[in-house]
Amino acid sequence: MSELRTYDERLDLARELDRSDELARFRDEFHIPQQVNGDPVLYLTGHSLGLQPKRTASYVQEVLDQWQRLGVRGHFEGDYPWSPYHEFLTEPMANLVGALPHEVVMMNSLTVNLHLMLATFYKPTKRRHKIVIEEGAFPSDYQAVISQIAWHGYSPDESLIKVKPPAGSDTIDNEALRLLIEEQGHEIAVIMLPGVQYYTGQKLWMNDITTLARQRDIAVGFDLAHAAGNVQMSLHDWNVDFAVWCSYKYLNSGPGSVGGCFVHERHARNVDLPRLAGWWGHDKATRFLMKNEFQAIPTAEGWQLSNPPILSLAAIRASLDLFTEAGGMEPLCHKSGLLTSYLQAQLESQLGDRVNVITPEVDRGCQLSLQIDSGDIQGRQVHDRLLESGVETDWREPNVIRAAPAPLYNSFEDCFHFVEKLKEALEVQES
Ligand SMILES: *Cc1c(COP(=O)(O)O)cnc(C)c1O
Repeated sequence: MSELRTYDERLDLARELDRSDELARFRDEFHIPQQVNGDPVLYLTGHSLGLQPKRTASYVQEVLDQWQRLGVRGHFEGDYPWSPYHEFLTEPMANLVGALPHEVVMMNSLTVNLHLMLATFYKPTKRRHKIVIEEGAFPSDYQAVISQIAWHGYSPDESLIKVKPPAGSDTIDNEALRLLIEEQGHEIAVIMLPGVQYYTGQKLWMNDITTLARQRDIAVGFDLAHAAGNVQMSLHDWNVDFAVWCSYKYLNSGPGSVGGCFVHERHARNVDLPRLAGWWGHDKATRFLMKNEFQAIPTAEGWQLSNPPILSLAAIRASLDLFTEAGGMEPLCHKSGLLTSYLQAQLESQLGDRVNVITPEVDRGCQLSLQIDSGDIQGRQVHDRLLESGVETDWREPNVIRAAPAPLYNSFEDCFHFVEKLKEALEVQES
């Protein structure tokens, strides 16, 4: 039926869906970038850099004002003193990833946190020295894991297991992963996988993977770069050992902003766990006694090294307040599911097999990864044409356009216009 509808009828339907969307008002909380002609950009790249909340400027300005007025006393005075500033982020952040507050800390950036976690959780022995990663892992994750293996004197050739999608598929097969863990589990020290894969948008079965791994004493860590603020998780209940993420993608806290780290309480409480230490992870009561021996804080904070960049934490606080006001991940994921299904249905009805969605229908967040299969036009060229027409998606080598309607600021009408622009880029004639 839907392909028989006219442009106007389909546009009306999208607007109708927006009118019944209880989260639609949050779009106004964001600065939408503008095209040269002053029109708003059709922004579908929240998976790479989330948009700036309008309130962020005032949260950051508050820190600048405090510094002006109080100088060094800003560490301990003012409404939001800097010394405990990271603590103001802990609970709202923990809620978004399904963790207890003492299991979460905002610090450093993703790759740094990954190294800090591997320093604690990767303890290779002659019998058990392997790390499982997926073949398509993000380069930084590869580089971190490979360098950790080499750092411990092992060889990546022997100690790295890469999970591949089955032939002809782009996505990880959960059954194959289960078999791998069952067969080689006794040699595996750490499993390091994404929560949501950056290229395909596939959400992995974090709960099942963790259960299987824990039965075999394997430490499990997830890279949540594309999962935090995008999908619902229960890191605590699932018993995940550790997780790391960044806050500038779905968490809208600005380029290069501070990342997040989860350490399950059964480890976080253990102050004897080996780690790379610094004074900000030291017991707060005695931090300023200037003693050299390290006494870890018995929470995830015990992995902090340095006092954090407060200007960046202020931007995270602004963004987390919005997530809290929106009601957290449950309503956001509900909208996200509707939005992304709508987008996929429009792609199918309007473009048929010219566009191939490689993202699974069930296991995903808001991102769709599109492969263009349309005669002579290359995917990269289609992406560039979209950009010229005011649509911000991104191109990922070798062959994917990523488009992610973010439920905090994207609308059904955005998805509608995206498909129309894509049609134009593909030069599909209206039938
Ligand atoms: C975005 C992203 C990163 C970025 O790492 P930084 O340390 O924040 O620069 C790492 N891994 C994955 C999977 C990502 O998607």
